[in-house]
Amino acid sequence: MRRPMVAGNWKMNGSRAESAALVDGIVQGMGSVTKAEVVLCPPYILIPLVAEKLAGRHDIPWGGQNLDTHVSGAYTGEVSGPMLKDFGCTYVIIGHSERRTYYHEDDGLVAEKFGAAHAAGLTPILCIGETLEEREAGQTEAVVARQLDAVLAAHGIDGFKNAVLAYEPVWAIGTGKTATPEQAQEVHRFIRGKLAAKDGKVADNLRILYGGSVKGSNAKELFGQADIDGGLIGGASLKAEEFLTICRAAE
Ligand code: PEP
Repeated sequence: MRRPMVAGNWKMNGSRAESAALVDGIVQGMGSVTKAEVVLCPPYILIPLVAEKLAGRHDIPWGGQNLDTHVSGAYTGEVSGPMLKDFGCTYVIIGHSERRTYYHEDDGLVAEKFGAAHAAGLTPILCIGETLEEREAGQTEAVVARQLDAVLAAHGIDGFKNAVLAYEPVWAIGTGKTATPEQAQEVHRFIRGKLAAKDGKVADNLRILYGGSVKGSNAKELFGQADIDGGLIGGASLKAEEFLTICRAAE
C-alpha cells in the first residue's frame, strides 16, 4: 500500500517571519492529518529555519527544491546534496519545470541530479510533464516517456526504488488550470505501466504525485484517482489552512 504524500514547494517565496508562521500553522493542524506524509520544501536560505522549527518532530520531513551535481568546490551560487543532508533534508525536488525552462536543465542534467540526490542519501522527487504545445500535438506520453527514459538509462529501474515521481503538466503549474482528474489519471497510469514493464513491484510501490494548481477545492477528486498518490503543491502550500485541507484530502 503506497502512503499518500503531499509536498509543499514554496518556490522563491517567504520572509523568515512568514515562513516561521507558515510552519507553525502547519504544525498546529497536523493533528488532523493522520495518514499522509507531509513534506516541506522551502528555498535554500530558509531550510535552517524550517529545520530548527521541526527539529525533534518525525512527522514533517523537509527537502530542497534543487541541488548541484557536485559535492563541493568552486561552483558559486550552488548548493550540494551533502549540504542539504547536513541541514536535515530528506527529500529534494529534481527537474521541476521551472528549472527545466528558466535554467535550461535538460534530461541529461536532471538524470545526473537524480543520481546526486541518491549519492547524498536524499530521496529525489522527480518532476516530469508536458507543455501545452506538446499536449495539443498529442505528444504527452512521448514527452513523459523521454523524461523517464533519461533517468532509467542512467540509473535503471532500481533508481526508482527510493524516489517519488511528480507528474506536473507545465500548462497547469501556477496557472489556475488544473488537469481534470481523468486527464491526470491517464498519464499517471501510463507512467506506472511504463515502469511496471521493467519491474512490477517497483512500479507498484512508487508514489506518483500530481502537481499543477492543486487547491483545497479540487484535491480530493484528483487524489481519489487510482494512480495518484498525493500532490506536489506550489502556490497553495504557502497558506497553512489551504495546505492542510489538501493534506487531509490525500487520506
Ligand atoms: C509546483 O510548483 O510544483 C506547482 C505545482 O505549483 P502550483 O501548485 O502553484 O501550480
